[in-house]
Parts: sequence; C-alpha cells; structure tokens
Amino acid sequence: RTKRTKVALLKNILICGTPGTGKSTLAKLVLEKVNNNNNKRICYEYVNVGDVCKAKEFYHLFDERLNSFVIDEDKILDHLEPLVRRGGMILDYHSSEFFPERFFSHVIVLTCGRENTKILYERLEKRDGYTKEKIRQNVECEIFGECVEEAKEAYTGDGVVHVRSNETEEEMEETVKFIAEELLGAKLR
Ligand code: ADP
Ligand code: MN
Repeated sequence: RTKRTKVALLKNILICGTPGTGKSTLAKLVLEKVNNNNNKRICYEYVNVGDVCKAKEFYHLFDERLNSFVIDEDKILDHLEPLVRRGGMILDYHSSEFFPERFFSHVIVLTCGRENTKILYERLEKRDGYTKEKIRQNVECEIFGECVEEAKEAYTGDGVVHVRSNETEEEMEETVKFIAEELLGAKLR
C-alpha cells in the first residue's frame, strides 16, 4: 500500500481597504508572524498587487479624473492564478471585487476612522504625490465605507469578510494575531 503524504494547501487571503488604512504595514506583520514557525513547509508569500501592476506594466493609461492608473485586470489575474493555486498568498490591494471569489478563504477589510477621518487624513498627507484632491477622494471613499460595501457584496460566503478597524498600533497587533491564529491557524510559539 502506498503511503500518501497529505499536503494541506495553505489558504489565500486578501487584505483590502482605502489607501492609508494600513494594509501593507499590517500584511507584512502577518507574513512575519505566520512564517516564523520553524516549519519550513509553511511558507506564505506577500504580494502587493498595485506594485506588481506597476513593475510589470499591467495597466492602461493614467485616468486623470480618478487620479490614478487603471490596472489591466486580465493581465494581473493571469499572473496571480498560478500563485493562488499554489496557496499561501497574502494579497494586498485596495479593491476587492475584481478578483474571483474562489481566490480567497478570507477577505480582511481595514478601516481607519469612518466617523473621524483625521487620522487617515494625516497619514495620507505624509505621502509623496498625494494632492489635496487625491487625499479628499480617499477620505471620502472611507467615509462612505466603499471598500467595506464592495467586499461584502463580492464575497458572500459565511465568515469570509472581516472588517477590522486599524487606527492604532494596538488594533493592528490584535488584527495580526487574529489573522495568524484564528484565520490561518498558525501554531505560534
Ligand atoms: P496602505 O498600504 O493601506 O496604503 P500603509 O500600510 O502604507 O497603508 O500605512 C499608511 C501609514 O499609516 C504608514 O505611515 C503606516 O506607518 C501608518 N499605519 C498603518 N497602520 C497603522 C496603525 N495601526 N497605527 C498607526 N499607524 C499606522
Ligand atoms: Mn500599501
């Protein structure tokens, strides 16, 4: 009788939310935590979708009205497909709906002060190339909860979408722990 090795595929997750809510900072902390377990077979990978699109030129022209590049969704999805099949992907992108629902076991939406946007405003002010207009657009997007709505509409499975406030270091620490332990089930020492 052949002995089969059971290979459990690692889950893929998406961390989304308005620019400045802290996706990249938090995602890297999650990555560190889940990969720091002395188990060489467990290896998650972090992908900043926006950065990949820029590096590989997966975008259409600059949209003057939206103040940003319009990414080529077909190209980035083709690029991500084999990675997602492999499992263990931690994807970072502000938007969520254009990914196929089957991509992710969990979608985490970060928020930063939907009522008081002072914190988000100040984070975005520190960014290079962020005009007052672009900051205003992003703050408005956060006030209207656009990313939360989008994720809830696009991912309808039970317990898939998790909305987490990310205004303080303490909240971030709790969310990192929540994702690593509850969602990804990392045995942490
Ligand atoms: P995003 O990737 O969503 O655009 P970043 O991770 O680049 O956001 O974070 C934006 C800024 O906010 C950075 O300067 C980062 O250090 C800061 N930041 C992120 N999360 C927190 C947090 N939980 N508490 C305090 N500052 C944070
Ligand atoms: Mn980022």
